[in-house]
Amino acid sequence: MKTIAILGSTGSIGTQSLDVAARKGYKVDALAAGRNVKLAEEQLRRFAPRYFAMGDERSAKELKIAAADTNTKILSGEEGICALAGMTEADTVINSIVGRAGLRPTVSILEANKKLALANKESLVCAGDIVMKMAKDRGLLPILPVDSEHSAIFQCLQAGKKEEVSRLLLTASGGPFFGKKREELENMTAKEALAHPTWSMGAKITVDSSTLMNKGFEVMEAVHLFGIPASRVEVVVHRESIVHSMVEYVDHSVIAQLATPDMRDCIQYAITYPDREPSPVKPLDLAAIGKLTFAAPDRETFPLLNKATECLEKGGVAGAVLNGANEGAVALFLAGKIPFNRLSEYVIKVVDEFEEIKEPTLEDIYACGKEAERRVLSMA
Ligand code: NDP
Repeated sequence: MKTIAILGSTGSIGTQSLDVAARKGYKVDALAAGRNVKLAEEQLRRFAPRYFAMGDERSAKELKIAAADTNTKILSGEEGICALAGMTEADTVINSIVGRAGLRPTVSILEANKKLALANKESLVCAGDIVMKMAKDRGLLPILPVDSEHSAIFQCLQAGKKEEVSRLLLTASGGPFFGKKREELENMTAKEALAHPTWSMGAKITVDSSTLMNKGFEVMEAVHLFGIPASRVEVVVHRESIVHSMVEYVDHSVIAQLATPDMRDCIQYAITYPDREPSPVKPLDLAAIGKLTFAAPDRETFPLLNKATECLEKGGVAGAVLNGANEGAVALFLAGKIPFNRLSEYVIKVVDEFEEIKEPTLEDIYACGKEAERRVLSMA
C-alpha cells in the first residue's frame, strides 16, 4: 500500500488528490492547508493522518481545539508545514499549495529526501535552478509533474531520448478571453475571468489562465523540469484541452498525450509512475468530440506570456519578481480594485524596474518576491 502526504489538501488539486487516495486505498500520513479549518477538520476525521499542519497560526489553533478528540498532531505556520515534510512516512509528497507559499515546503520535501509530486509551479518559477539542482544532487529526479501539460510532456518524453527532442509543444486552452482584443478586455471582471472554459481550478490559477500568465509560468516550469531551452518550447492554443501537450522529435514525429480533462489522471500518474493503473477518468470519445483545433497564442493582447520568457532569460531573481508581482496583481484584481488590463501593466512595470541580483540565495529569492508583491499592492 502506498503512503502519501498532501500539502494544500483543501484546494482544488488537494481535494482531487484525496479523491485519488480514497479510491486507491492509499494511506494518507500527513496533510497541510492554509486557513480552511472546516474542510481541514472534515479531512482529518475522514483520513486520520498522523499530522495536519495549518499555515495560518490562528487556523492551526482552531483546528487543534476542533480535533482535540483525535490522534492527529496539529502543527502550525510555515515552519510546521516544512517540519511535516521531514516527519511524514509518506513515499510521495504532493505539493499543491498555491503561490510562493509553496516554495519553502518544496525545499523541505527535497531536504527530507522524499519523492516530490509537484503541482506548485511557482516553486520552479521562483527558484527553478535551486530546486532542480537540489533534486539532482540528492538523487530525487525526476520531480513528478502534476500539471497536466507537464505530465503529458513527461509521458511523451518516454518515446525517445532527450537528445532526440526538437521541441516541446505546450498546449493552452486560451482561457475565457480567447479571441478578444485588449480594448475589449478593459472592463472584464473577476467573475468573467473565473469562468474557465474547460478546467475547474482554484481562483489564482484561473485568473492566471485568463492573462496567459499561467502559460508563461508553464514555459518556465517546462524549461526547468525537462532541461530544454525556452526557444524550443512552443505554446499552441488548443481550445478543447484534449491534447494535454506534445513532444516533437528530430525526425519531426510528434508524440502527443490525450485524455479527458481531469486532473486525477495526472495526480495518479505522479504517484504510480512508472506504472499505470486503472483510473476513474472517463475514456476519450474522439468521435463525440469531433474535431481538435490549434491556433497561435495572441502575445500582444496577453503580454505576460512573453514576459515569462524574458524573465527566464534574465535569470537571477527575475522569476521570483514576476511571480511576486503577479500574486499582488491577481489579489488586486480579485478584490475588484483594478480592471483586467491593469493587472498585466502593473506586473510588467514592477518587473521592468526591479533591480537584478546574480546568483541569488533562496532567501534573496523569497525577499524579492515579497518586495515585488508589496510594490504592486501599493500601486492601487
Ligand atoms: P487552490 O486555491 O484551490 O488551493 C490552494 C491550496 O493552498 C489550499 O489548500 C490552501 O489552503 C493552500 N494554501 C494557500 N496558502 C497557503 C499557505 N500560506 N500555507 C499553506 N497552505 C496554503 O489552488 P489549486 O489547487 O488550484 O492550485 C494549487 C497549485 O497547483 C497552484 O500552484 C497551481 O498553479 C497548481 N495547479 C493547479 C491546477 C488545478 O487544476 N487546480 C492544475 C495545475 C497546477 P486553504 O484553502 O485552507 O487556505
